[in-house]
Amino acid sequence: MAGMKHARAALKAVFGYDDFRSGQAEVIEAVLKGEDVLAVMPTGSGKSICYQLPAQLDGGLTVVVSPLIALMRDQVQQMAAVGIEAASLNSSNSEDEGRTVFRRMMNGELRLLFVSPERLAGTSLAERLAEAGVRRLAIDEAHCVSQWGHDFRPEYRQLARVRALLGGVQTIALTATADATTRADIASALFPKPPHVVVQSFDRPNLGLRFEAKDRPSDQIEEVVARHSRSSGIVYASSRARTETLAAALTRKGHRALAYHAGMSAEERARNQDVFLQEDGVVMAATVAFGMGINKPDVRFVVHADMPAGIEAYYQEIGRAGRDGLPAETLTLYGLDDMALRRRQIDERDAGEERRRIEHRRLSAMIDLCEVATCRRQSLLAYFGEESGPCGRCDLCSGHAVLEDATVAAQKVLSAVARTGQRFGAGHLADLLRGEATDTIKRHGHDALKTFGAGKDMTRRAWMTVVRQLYAAGVLTEADAEHGGFALTERGGEVLRGRETLKLRVAPEPTARRPRSGRG
Ligand code: ADP
Ligand code: ZN
Repeated sequence: MAGMKHARAALKAVFGYDDFRSGQAEVIEAVLKGEDVLAVMPTGSGKSICYQLPAQLDGGLTVVVSPLIALMRDQVQQMAAVGIEAASLNSSNSEDEGRTVFRRMMNGELRLLFVSPERLAGTSLAERLAEAGVRRLAIDEAHCVSQWGHDFRPEYRQLARVRALLGGVQTIALTATADATTRADIASALFPKPPHVVVQSFDRPNLGLRFEAKDRPSDQIEEVVARHSRSSGIVYASSRARTETLAAALTRKGHRALAYHAGMSAEERARNQDVFLQEDGVVMAATVAFGMGINKPDVRFVVHADMPAGIEAYYQEIGRAGRDGLPAETLTLYGLDDMALRRRQIDERDAGEERRRIEHRRLSAMIDLCEVATCRRQSLLAYFGEESGPCGRCDLCSGHAVLEDATVAAQKVLSAVARTGQRFGAGHLADLLRGEATDTIKRHGHDALKTFGAGKDMTRRAWMTVVRQLYAAGVLTEADAEHGGFALTERGGEVLRGRETLKLRVAPEPTARRPRSGRG
């Protein structure tokens, strides 16, 4: 068995690197000892070497499951460049290529074989691999195993069976995003007994973290894009139509912007992706269909035009910025509509009770991250089980959010909700509190209510912010999914009756109008 000293020497000789990065050493040591490993390490931390190096060190064949053909091609080329025998099998191979790969495999020439999960799930390939003899299995993007993850792929569920077919070979699962639930799910789906788990710090110190309530979204987005006019960036949106509108709007403003979503033809998608990869200064307005396996080191910003579905997805998406380690900016926009939409999506999903409960919990965590009042990075890392102090660099640390007792403001909102029959939305409630006699207010006779005009001391936007935070805090809930109206929760009743106090972020919301130099 090769020891770590030997491994380090090979790292230098084969890859030219002086030392392992922190997570790598632990994974490789465990791999060389023959243990099963689940490695959760951020994008760019160097997961590939965790199976590439052992494959070269102890010979035999390592089968690498990878969901993306383009990624396999890249890796095979990289391996050729450092002199490791590697090949790939996927739907893009010709018959001839396939035959050559099998011949090299049967002759024991190959160290690494990259295969797609679809290909491996079919029995014939697994049988041939078993015949050729496989030393170990490496499963990249292993979060795809988890039915509860954000990127479930059914073929991944077959991998445990494949592993058994291969004689229960040593298995390494690698992923860049897995919260505690996903980790447990991966471990139980792939491994007969608990694997050695390595969790590498999730902190990406070069990523700026900023969240803003959707105020004037196109301006908020453009402000970021304009600041990085010669660099590449991604703007994620929650619908296909919106990616197109965003791309068009940015183009009108003189930026080079393209759209990317699953509704476009494969050629169009490939074309836009190539432009993004090859040229500088391109903004991709995309759905989450874009980005997995995209390895562009100099993406300078990632903007979420809509609130992401959960923190795992959020983390993975912002993680596409700044892979070169240089500073990169991220901005996440969120609004009540996003929160309501995501809740509805979960409720409407054809899924079991347990799954829905987990999804709601995850969504709440995302909403909490939008509305937290302390360090953004600390909250993000805590979600992945990592303890840290305030970062001093995120939008909140750099200081404009202050928590204040907002029980009175909350009571005004809750009272307005109660008096109007628990079915009106944030805009109506804000108008009511501000004493605006709009048509709807008059039609419902709400100008005669005691709460009418009770909140003249705050702007409409400030009231909207309070409503949003009350919703995020679980003090208000949706009355009916369709009209965006609110009702009181049990806790709302407690606050209204003065049995519970409430702190909210009352300081001015960061907006696109805020001068960039004058923070706070
Ligand atoms: P991941 O799969 O975790 O996103 P990669 O395996 O693609 O990351 O590695 C990211 C980059 O880091 C690659 O360019 C790789 O060559 C480089 N790298 C990996 N390990 C080391 C190391 N020990 N020292 C220096 N660079 C490394
Ligand atoms: Zn911070």
